[in-house]
Amino acid sequence: MRIVTFEDQHGRRIGVLDGDLIADVRAVDRTLADDMVDLIGLGSSGLDRMRDALDRAPRLGPASVHVLAPIPRPRKNVIAVGRNYRDHAKEFSDSGFDASEKKMIPDYPVVFTKSPTSVVGPGIAIDTANDPLGTTDYEGEMAFVMGATARFVPRERAMEHVYGYTIVNDVTARGLQKRHVQWFVGKSPDTFCPMGPCITTIDELPDIGESWLRTWVNGELRQEAPISALIFDVPTLIATLSEVMTLEPGDVIATGTGLGVGIGFDPPRYLQPGDRIEIAIDGIGRLVNPVI
Ligand code: MG
Repeated sequence: MRIVTFEDQHGRRIGVLDGDLIADVRAVDRTLADDMVDLIGLGSSGLDRMRDALDRAPRLGPASVHVLAPIPRPRKNVIAVGRNYRDHAKEFSDSGFDASEKKMIPDYPVVFTKSPTSVVGPGIAIDTANDPLGTTDYEGEMAFVMGATARFVPRERAMEHVYGYTIVNDVTARGLQKRHVQWFVGKSPDTFCPMGPCITTIDELPDIGESWLRTWVNGELRQEAPISALIFDVPTLIATLSEVMTLEPGDVIATGTGLGVGIGFDPPRYLQPGDRIEIAIDGIGRLVNPVI
């Protein structure tokens, strides 16, 4: 299933994408969670109930609803991984913007976080006014969403803890990323974490490595990479993180961006008001955001 959080005149709730339409499953089963993280917490029983309700659920057209980020306000920071594609690691290194860098290709995952207040949904504008240095850049990324609580989970069992996949634009204020050394400030301005349009459950995408990630700016293809090119894959990231911390249902982990971000150009091609960013991943969908 491709599950969305949406809003209409009756309020905010969970639905299931059916082509361009949204199946309003809560209209059939009013005991279903109306919050995505609560739904994820129900595990397979929540998904079974969604499936049971699906056939009878009324379909809502795109004109009558507003699709939000699947998890509009994550309960903790969005976890993200830097330099996780080889050719992007090189372009980032060559740009001179990585103040933290010691090695171009890392031996261990480079992990940072983005503030929950940076999250916005599809169609919401990325506001460059929140970057005082005017160095706003895009990073199209696959993100996975944790299903079951994970602690000390080995690679071989890691996928049992994944609920599904979504798209994140890890928008970055490059000047702040460099100036503050630690990446949190440059990664966390308001509106700098577009997410969506849905969470595709793992049963629909048994091998995310087969999907491709593509990013367009104003219709120009800038990024194109297979998810299989990740240096540290999803099981490795779960094993690494869960060795030291508890991962919880609804945690969002963005896995890194590929070659072709704005600072990979000389001179850098930063985002400007009026731009439009589109990120697509096979099996998940398209995340489109304007820039103001
Ligand atoms: Mg990134």
